[in-house]
Amino acid sequence: MRAIRRFTVRTVLPAELAALGELVHNLRWSWHPETLDLFAEVDPDTWERVGHDPVALLGAVEPERLRELAADRRFLRRLADAADDLREYMTAPRWYQSLPDAARAIGYFSPEYGIAAALPQYSGGLGILAGDHLKAASDLGVPILGVGLLYRHGYFTQSLSPEGWQLEHYPSLDPGGLPLTLLKEADGNPVRVRIGLPEHRTLHAQVWVAQVGRVPLLLLDSDVAENDNAERDVTDRLYGGGTDHRLKQELLLGIGGVRAIRAYCRISGHPEPEVFHTNEGHAGFLGLERIRELTEARLSFEEALEAVRSGTVFTTHTPVPAGIDRFPAELIARQFGGENAWPTVPVDRILGLGAEDEPGVFNMAAMGMRLAQRVNGVSQLHGEVSREMFKGLWPGFDVDEVPIGSITNGVHAPTWVGREIMELAGRELPSLVERAQGWEGVSKIADEDIWAIRGRMRARLVEAARVRLRRSWLDRGASPAELGWIDEALDPEVLTIGFARRVPSYKRLTLMLSDPARLRELLLHPERPVQIVIAGKAHPADEGGKKLIQQIVKFADSEDVRHRIVFLPDYDMALGQLLVQGCDVWMNNPLRPLEACGTSGMKAALNGGLNLSIRDGWWDEWFDGTNGWAIPTADGVTDPDRRDELEATALYDLIEHEVADRFYDRPADGLPRRWLEMVRHTLTSLGPKVLAGRMLRDYVVGLYTPAAHSARALTAGGHGPVKDFASWKLKVGRAWPGVRVEHVEASGVGDTPEVGASLELRATIAMGELSPEDIEVQVAYGRVGVHDELVHPSYAPLTADSRADDGRAVFTGSVPLQSTGAFGYTVRVVPSHPLMAAPAELGLVTVPQEPEGMTNGTLR
Ligand SMILES: *Cc1c(COP(=O)(O)O)cnc(C)c1O
Repeated sequence: MRAIRRFTVRTVLPAELAALGELVHNLRWSWHPETLDLFAEVDPDTWERVGHDPVALLGAVEPERLRELAADRRFLRRLADAADDLREYMTAPRWYQSLPDAARAIGYFSPEYGIAAALPQYSGGLGILAGDHLKAASDLGVPILGVGLLYRHGYFTQSLSPEGWQLEHYPSLDPGGLPLTLLKEADGNPVRVRIGLPEHRTLHAQVWVAQVGRVPLLLLDSDVAENDNAERDVTDRLYGGGTDHRLKQELLLGIGGVRAIRAYCRISGHPEPEVFHTNEGHAGFLGLERIRELTEARLSFEEALEAVRSGTVFTTHTPVPAGIDRFPAELIARQFGGENAWPTVPVDRILGLGAEDEPGVFNMAAMGMRLAQRVNGVSQLHGEVSREMFKGLWPGFDVDEVPIGSITNGVHAPTWVGREIMELAGRELPSLVERAQGWEGVSKIADEDIWAIRGRMRARLVEAARVRLRRSWLDRGASPAELGWIDEALDPEVLTIGFARRVPSYKRLTLMLSDPARLRELLLHPERPVQIVIAGKAHPADEGGKKLIQQIVKFADSEDVRHRIVFLPDYDMALGQLLVQGCDVWMNNPLRPLEACGTSGMKAALNGGLNLSIRDGWWDEWFDGTNGWAIPTADGVTDPDRRDELEATALYDLIEHEVADRFYDRPADGLPRRWLEMVRHTLTSLGPKVLAGRMLRDYVVGLYTPAAHSARALTAGGHGPVKDFASWKLKVGRAWPGVRVEHVEASGVGDTPEVGASLELRATIAMGELSPEDIEVQVAYGRVGVHDELVHPSYAPLTADSRADDGRAVFTGSVPLQSTGAFGYTVRVVPSHPLMAAPAELGLVTVPQEPEGMTNGTLR
């Protein structure tokens, strides 16, 4: 019989152990091994049985044992130390507290969070990144308030059918059994967030608070009694259900999230965010809610839009157009129109924010970009791809000028790095652990020590893999008697390659199977064998992905190779940690440039694993020729099968001739010196870059602080500046058709321009209704290509010289001729205002009518 409802009865801890409750309810334990040791000591057997889940531990431990601990002086002392350590961590000033004028608080919105395996509210890279973002913010003292949804069934767990087909199971999570606290009003009643839906319905939600170190994470949950069944299920699972369901989830995340922040700040006294960070389009409705708030406080729509944009950061995460979140516009019109409309926010303005090329479609990424003055991709290459992908939103500008920057992702070391390595670093390189400095010290650590640790982590992986493999075979219907071979599956001395990721087709799970005979040879090589450990989940609706998993599983089932290649089901954070720590090589072969960043290879690198990857995402940026291997990409080849074949052959060759060769090259003393040299170089060259702390500093310095300053400048003194800025934008937009480049004259270089000379320019500009302060006249100059196009031009402003009465002005300036060869220039006019963040921001630009303004010459 199945229960219709489940809940968790919490233990009442003896007063002496109250601090244990505090420790369990702060997720800092997920990256603090000393706290985990303490939990283990509560009851070692139960700790193993509950899979290292502290809340489950407290639920399962016998009251008798708790009474015993309450009288155990040694345990109480350790508990007091751990609790002191946590309090100190929570309150001591950190890096952020030394910054002048930084944002008082930042609201960070994400549809998923990977904090710990015991809180399965993530499906893959986006969630893991969000989790690492919060943890690094906590470590650095960055005052972030996280916002997300609490999915009652989380993401699915994966098992395999006897035929190797992915089976999904959705666990039923009870918030009472998770490290969460319900947000309550002062009178003890749970906070309610409400969102109006069409046809006079209302979506109600409660708010759970997860404490991630210093960072509170607010999770909205629609499973409350006031809701009808359909609304109750809004937060049932991550990325499940149809369009309508997804829209409700996103309304709850964005609009509900802002309302949850308002309630949390009111109740706790936490400062209100000055900056809002939209992590991927799904959370974009947060901007609409903030516009609504401001319009109800009597700003016009345009003014509110400017105020919101100035304090909003939007991060895009996909280079795949099909990965962009879009809704039928009529759904949005129904939500924000008719009887459910917001009186101060016209529905057509909302529809305009999400408009894209295709009529009738509401594009969440387009809205994200229109609602944020600062936008970024997640690696340099992804920034480039995003500028190309979204350039249509800034017509008239070169792709280089599309105002989308990039901040390359990072990973949270204490979460992902093996304990042995953290301890070795703590002993030998304390500055590394405390301040992430002193990577060059890695060169002082002895080869023997690094190799011994790598060996221990590999052996741990092999052992855990056997346990998981046995469980999987039993699930698939095998009998224990057939599974003797598993005791010998994988070998703790063999070169171990890891490959774990979600299974969208661009990640090419099965590239390694392109030539099965060649793969067999590599696995079964008599002197230099390799073994491969694979994991990954396909989206439940992705039949193609499930077929790829099945192909891998079928191959790994073959008797001759099953001890050298294994598929481990249910890739999650716990398995991820095991893999990135235990594998010698981390393999990644996406179709370039479809991997926005990728972070699992960074985790491997921090553990002394070597990357073997297509140059995509972060690896394109930081591969330096000797800190791992680049699989040559055939991205010019258009036939996909041919491309796969070329890249697979290159991969096999690399493994055989470079990777295995180095790993097994053991001079007299038995240590692979050349391998260890590369491990060391990986640590010193990548270590400082791949850390989430570096990423967070980049966000703070490059985006959060400037956004806070913009927002303050606009809202100073009762929103006066924002009113001026909004009306200036309207004026400029209306007057722009009257702006023309009438005439450009050049002098100063004669007939034979030479390097070192300087070009003097005079441009006459018709300004229509505008004045010289409203515009910037720029000269764009540099190398020209075969069609006279300027290649990555430089820009310099010209200065207003004099003003004629008929709405014209002359602008002058000079351009130094610094390099020889084909050179060209032109003049353009863009709007100019101190509160703009980029010249392309208004999407307005005027260039000379062809062709008189454009002049080319060749420099000698
Ligand atoms: C790190 C991680 C990811 C993201 O890795 P990619 O390199 O982006 O594929 C996904 N899932 C889990 C469980 C992870 O730990």
